[in-house]
Amino acid sequence: MENRKKNVLSAIQPTGDLHLGNYFGAVKNWVAIQEKYNAVYGVVNYHTMTMPYKAANLQEATWKMIFMVMACGVKVENLFIQSLIPEHAELTWIFGCTCSYGELARMTQFKDKGEQLKEGDKEAFVSAGLFYYPVLQAADILIYHADLVPVGKDQEQHLELSRNIAARFNRQFNKEYFVHPEPLYTETPKVLSLADPTRKMSKSLGEKHYVNLFGDADRIRKQVRSAVTDTGERNDVMSAGVSNLFELLKACEKHDIRQSLLDDYSSGALKYADLKEAVVEALIELTQPLKENLAAIQADKRM
Ligand code: ADP
Repeated sequence: MENRKKNVLSAIQPTGDLHLGNYFGAVKNWVAIQEKYNAVYGVVNYHTMTMPYKAANLQEATWKMIFMVMACGVKVENLFIQSLIPEHAELTWIFGCTCSYGELARMTQFKDKGEQLKEGDKEAFVSAGLFYYPVLQAADILIYHADLVPVGKDQEQHLELSRNIAARFNRQFNKEYFVHPEPLYTETPKVLSLADPTRKMSKSLGEKHYVNLFGDADRIRKQVRSAVTDTGERNDVMSAGVSNLFELLKACEKHDIRQSLLDDYSSGALKYADLKEAVVEALIELTQPLKENLAAIQADKRM
């Protein structure tokens, strides 16, 4: 049996601020698994071009994302910038001729994202890049011979496409060259918007819906204190907003205080203000050193 570390590939788009959802749902896990695996993490700026974006900001946003994930603890030697490695685009072309139009047309993400664009504006520009990006994703994955790719449900179909492309390429060229990547399922929390806990925390919902990981402490305090707790559910089940605050305590590994507040909840003695203060403290404790790391990286003249 081969006794090597497995290769893991994961990527993030440089779309601006990192928020708590990105941290707990993705970047924290990157840090956690980077020793166990041979990990390669990319800032995939070509993917950002598939949806409306600001061209003038893309380069700066790309480097900022590199610095932010480094500040979270990702090792610089594990990182790459997609557009600086021409082979990503070159392999995309070759793979484009290794999969069919019909296969790409079946990708539900293309339909979902296309519809999302049309929702805001019926005449919205849906680029061919949006149709083609799963091929670029296959190149991102297969170029590093990734054995494992951490995926959410929404990306499973694309990973299957990568496997099909690898198999077809290997058959066509009569060589077991590309590895067939498998999904790596890790338990990561889904962080909900504090302003509307019926929805996932996301930048695309607008500023009040996400907590910037590198934002100032006052803003974090304000956002948590005004978090929606009552979302009109039945009295006998914990509301999504309250449950989200407990999840944040868990994600911050504040297990004792979480348990004691859960006991208060069960006995009917919980004051939401106490829960919110515990979350504020946990988040400030988490984010303060990350902010200091980022400032130090940005001040480093070698960067
Ligand atoms: P956004 O929707 O804010 O633009 P992205 O879609 O770019 O975030 O997601 C980047 C990474 O962060 C992905 O791995 C995604 O699964 C994770 N992520 C994003 N939002 C959340 C969230 N609310 N909870 C958990 N993980 C999230």
